[in-house]
Amino acid sequence: MSSAIVDFVSNAQTQTLLRSAAMPDGSRVREILAKAGELRGLELEEVVFLLRVEDMALLHELHVAARRVKDEIYGSRLVLFAPLYISNACLNECAYCGFRRENLALRRRTLTQAEIAEEVKALVSQGHKRLLLVAGEEFGAGKNIHYVLESIRTIYATKVGNGEIRRVNVNIAPLSVDQFRQLKAENIGTYQLFQETYHEETYRQHHLAGPKRDYHWRLEAMDRAMEAGIGDVGIGALFGLYDWRFELLSLLQHARHLEDVFGVGPHTISVPRMELAAGSNVASRPPFAVSDQDFLKLVAILRIAVPYTGIIMSTRESSELRNQTLQLGVSQISAGSRTDPGGYTSHQSGQDTSQFQLGDHRPLDEVVLDAVRMGFIPSFCTGCYRMGRTGRDFMDLAKPGEIKKHCEPNGLSTFQEYLCDYATPQTRAEGEKRIQAMMETMSPVPRQKCEKMVSRVKSGHRDVFV
Ligand code: SAM
Ligand code: SF4
Repeated sequence: MSSAIVDFVSNAQTQTLLRSAAMPDGSRVREILAKAGELRGLELEEVVFLLRVEDMALLHELHVAARRVKDEIYGSRLVLFAPLYISNACLNECAYCGFRRENLALRRRTLTQAEIAEEVKALVSQGHKRLLLVAGEEFGAGKNIHYVLESIRTIYATKVGNGEIRRVNVNIAPLSVDQFRQLKAENIGTYQLFQETYHEETYRQHHLAGPKRDYHWRLEAMDRAMEAGIGDVGIGALFGLYDWRFELLSLLQHARHLEDVFGVGPHTISVPRMELAAGSNVASRPPFAVSDQDFLKLVAILRIAVPYTGIIMSTRESSELRNQTLQLGVSQISAGSRTDPGGYTSHQSGQDTSQFQLGDHRPLDEVVLDAVRMGFIPSFCTGCYRMGRTGRDFMDLAKPGEIKKHCEPNGLSTFQEYLCDYATPQTRAEGEKRIQAMMETMSPVPRQKCEKMVSRVKSGHRDVFV
């Protein structure tokens, strides 16, 4: 284990930091928020200070600052994706998860390549362009990595009319450097992995058997992924296992560690909150349940502390809460999700094959329409990764707020593509009005560029991006 890693997650140091903060006073909080407005991110000591803010007026200022930072960096685009569960077979015993190996009531299902293609067709037919491939861990020690690699090839090869999946992100168990190289060779977008909890003792309590018991193998996964050349990695913690403040500080330390060692921080940070899972007592009563108010605060702090990083909100949360987090700077959301392998096509899908319960059951078109009504541009863009704007190149554009120049036109053109090919008449009408309104706010040069791209899509061109 490298010493840099030991240092950055020193549990004792994090606890000391948490205890050290003085009670926040308004002027200091405003000073920190003003610094955040310059998109410079925050020091851990400043974050600790914000964690203590309870005053409603100051919390409101924090929320406003978070939204401003998101708008500065990404504009009003909101990226949409769907998870694709290819297998719920698992060697591990994670106490909170429906897929844990001792859950004998769970019907195990590993999709064949033909079944994966059917699932992909169902998702493409809804309008998705970006998938997150998810699987239980049955390829520990390299056993089944070929299954994952083949599945990625199947996804990219599946077409429905004009539509196809253009970016596959992956959330699977940690791999060796060699295996990560194989994954990269399949042209994946982001490799995602959640540490679950950064608190080592708590980690041991909830990971009772299987390869996942090794806390450090998981913690070092992103270092191995980056060593293998995967530039875009996504980190996260499962909120509910331990004190959310501790997890937040640890996530920030993880981000800083990657930046220090590889010159590039995480492409995304996910903030899953523990949901009910069949056969899990821990999931029914999370030991450190996070209230809605604290959850919003954590999203807002994350947004301003690491402004260049995408924040992902899944359908674990209700539509109401998800909509609130959009105002605080969440930049990517899943939509129309199923967490059971075969769930998009199978009539038998349901609780006996699902990982956990979902809070948002809206179909994609409804999520899109709600986002439009809230003033967002739903984006199906996959341009950056296909133009090679990944890893450090992406960060160099994101940090000064330059990435917006690509996100805006690409968001508009891919949204127009969705409206032409998949939207209900009402969503199309409201969506096109939104596109028009958005273009009217632009200065002449970018406006001209966007108008040209949108009209190319309207006249039948597809996959228009810069
Ligand atoms: N099996 C791999 C792993 O554990 O890393 C990857 C896929 S796992 C299905 C994806 C994530 O689901 C886990 O990292 C965990 O954070 C999350 N998860 C598990 N049980 C959950 C629950 N009850 N509620 C919310 N999220 C859960
Ligand atoms: Fe398996 Fe992942 Fe669920 Fe753990 S969280 S039981 S490793 S699928």
